[in-house]
Amino acid sequence: MKTQEYIDLEERLGAHNYHPLDVVIERGEGVWVWDVDGHKYLDMLAAYGAVNQGHCHPKIVATMLEQAPKLALTSRAFRNDQLPGFYQTLTEMVGYDKVLPMNTGAEAVETAIKAARKWAYEVKGVAPDQAEILVFTENFHGRTTTIVSFSSDEQTKASFGPYPAGFRVVPYGDAEAVTAAMNPNVAAIMIEPIQGEGGIIVPPDGFLRHLRALCDEHNALFIADEIQSGLGRTGRLLAVEHEGVRPDIVILGKALSGGMYPVSAIVADDAVMNVFKPGDHGSTYGGNPLGTKVAVTALEVLRDEKLVENSDELGRYALERLQALDTPNIKEVRGRGLWIGVELNPEAGGARRFCEALMKRGLLCKETHTHTIRLAPPLTITREELDWALEHIEAVLADVPVAAAVG
Ligand SMILES: *Cc1c(COP(=O)(O)O)cnc(C)c1O
Repeated sequence: MKTQEYIDLEERLGAHNYHPLDVVIERGEGVWVWDVDGHKYLDMLAAYGAVNQGHCHPKIVATMLEQAPKLALTSRAFRNDQLPGFYQTLTEMVGYDKVLPMNTGAEAVETAIKAARKWAYEVKGVAPDQAEILVFTENFHGRTTTIVSFSSDEQTKASFGPYPAGFRVVPYGDAEAVTAAMNPNVAAIMIEPIQGEGGIIVPPDGFLRHLRALCDEHNALFIADEIQSGLGRTGRLLAVEHEGVRPDIVILGKALSGGMYPVSAIVADDAVMNVFKPGDHGSTYGGNPLGTKVAVTALEVLRDEKLVENSDELGRYALERLQALDTPNIKEVRGRGLWIGVELNPEAGGARRFCEALMKRGLLCKETHTHTIRLAPPLTITREELDWALEHIEAVLADVPVAAAVG
């Protein structure tokens, strides 16, 4: 089949809930992917940060091949021999007492919401059904009906009501607004330490520390959704480390399994996690031996290959180079680690055409919102590969005349 045939079949038989670039990928290795016509591309999206360890990392693949024929799923009705090792590796790495495993990011977010509410009623003493969770403008926490109910993006939320109560949206980065929103019913503040889908938005310095102090003062939980920002993406294991903040609950997903298998989790200390009793919450696939063994290897790869350090070092370098660009197309370049948003001026005609121009040069990027190009390669990228990518990005951003881009 040729590219167009795959696309036609997909469009005819699948729901149109995505608008992908028209590239049909059949193979991946490290930072590179190949399409069905044999074209090679550098993947600058890394599945929204799920393949921080690079495509088909040989060690993660080997673990998958080792475990798959042995035991894949028991459900949590029985114990399996891989789950305890996953708990051990993860708790030691992130420094929390306990783990609750799920599969997708949205499920882990739901798990954090349930933990916070149960904690509010059973530990803090909030009156029944009165718990509130503060969330932020331009948040992205997933796609369940509860989660989209507090999205500030119209398309994400509209037509999926009626919406559940108990969430209040406050402006991201606005310390005074959050202070004013605090009240005795607040169970938790839930935040992305850097907003990914929002356009790689870094909050003002001190904002996360302010939230931590508010939570301490009002006996509320600090929940960090690190599904995309965590596990090295920002040049730290967790993005909250940039402000030296320790959340009460950290939500992980995406790179937790290096793109090989859906594995997510929340981590927290006993004071929070012990609110869960047998039967309170669960998932058929959550904590399965295949996923958890894959996740252990994915975490070992992050540590052994110093991917957090690489993200920090190469991220600084890339950010400096892009911030030095002088072109009327660019409004702002921002980010942390290998997670960079290039926001274009409205006159530049939208980010998508730049992504399409980069695709022709062998780079796969994805716009976020209309005007921001998101750059997030696998953290295994080398300086040489990054230089190659930056040359093309610089050329596309600088050479495309604004008038032509508006077209
Ligand atoms: C991707 C993402 C999610 C949702 O994860 P899924 O696996 O797609 O359900 C939640 N929060 C953040 C910050 C994310 O980036």
